[in-house]
Amino acid sequence: MMRTLMTQRFVVLFISLFMLSSPLHAAEVDLQQLVNDVHKQFASHNEGKNPDYIPALAAVDSDLFAISIVTADGKKYSAGDKDHSFSIQSIAKAFNLAALMNQQGDQVVVDKIGVNATGLPFSSIMAIELNEERSVNPLVNAGAIATVSLIKAKNAKQKWNIIESNLENFTGTDLKVQKNIYKSETDTNVKNQSIARLLSNYGRLYDDIEVSVDLYTRMCSVGVNTEELAIMGATYANAGINPMTKKEAVKAENVPKLLAVMATSGLYDDSGLWLYKVGLPAKSGVGGGIIAVMPGKYGIAAFSPPVDAAGNSVRAQLAIEEIAKRLKANVFQ
Ligand code: GLN
Repeated sequence: MMRTLMTQRFVVLFISLFMLSSPLHAAEVDLQQLVNDVHKQFASHNEGKNPDYIPALAAVDSDLFAISIVTADGKKYSAGDKDHSFSIQSIAKAFNLAALMNQQGDQVVVDKIGVNATGLPFSSIMAIELNEERSVNPLVNAGAIATVSLIKAKNAKQKWNIIESNLENFTGTDLKVQKNIYKSETDTNVKNQSIARLLSNYGRLYDDIEVSVDLYTRMCSVGVNTEELAIMGATYANAGINPMTKKEAVKAENVPKLLAVMATSGLYDDSGLWLYKVGLPAKSGVGGGIIAVMPGKYGIAAFSPPVDAAGNSVRAQLAIEEIAKRLKANVFQ
């Protein structure tokens, strides 16, 4: 009798400990409710403005709003316009960097691009001029164009295949370039061309100027929805293994470095403020998307087109901040 009681107690204790230690148990029960609640909470929030320096972005419906969470073991929770594809824009920078690291390791990023935050807007030319080593950052336009230029390939077509299939390894889905965005940005990207020329002048661009800017622009125009973005985030949360396809998208040893760059520069000149408030590595894009990563647990993505002065989606920031707060997800905690 005594023994059975002890065994029963042991079993109860064991199950409780398992439930406590498993973040996924809580996730299964609560995350759908959480994304629904947070979506409702910010559904009528309308601060910010669609960016118009890329004319096609100004034409996107400002009311679109979606939130997704994908756990490191592949459970998906979404609310709102989860099937709407929007241009990935700068979020691609944080994943194309992984393609470069997969090919050439991590030191090349320090030596040939730079990893410190510029503290300046994402298209700053001054950031290049101010720094004597012309060291920029892979998550601002200059460093992202340099990243594209560094990827080794036989020709532009092969380089595009590497860039596109790398992004597809992270989403586990087929991705398509949004042609209207690509055309609109190609017609207006004089500043990015200037950035590439300036980098080239300083020996910090490593391929043809036109090819590098074109492939960079095409990469920014790739369409994704929040669920795909959250899977990308979950792949970083899962040490580089895509939780849906179970395939390695990036070597586990590179993930902390990629997340470090996201933490210090993922939201441009507002990265410090974001990290202070939310405490999660994240990356935004002017298309209105943001992803955040809680290592070991989940990727969180949100989308809403109107952005603030730094180019970060207002509602996506609020939604992710609220989710992180409710989940007590903070890498410094
Ligand atoms: N394609 C955009 C650009 O080059 C990306 C910027 C962004 O998302 N912040 O300006």
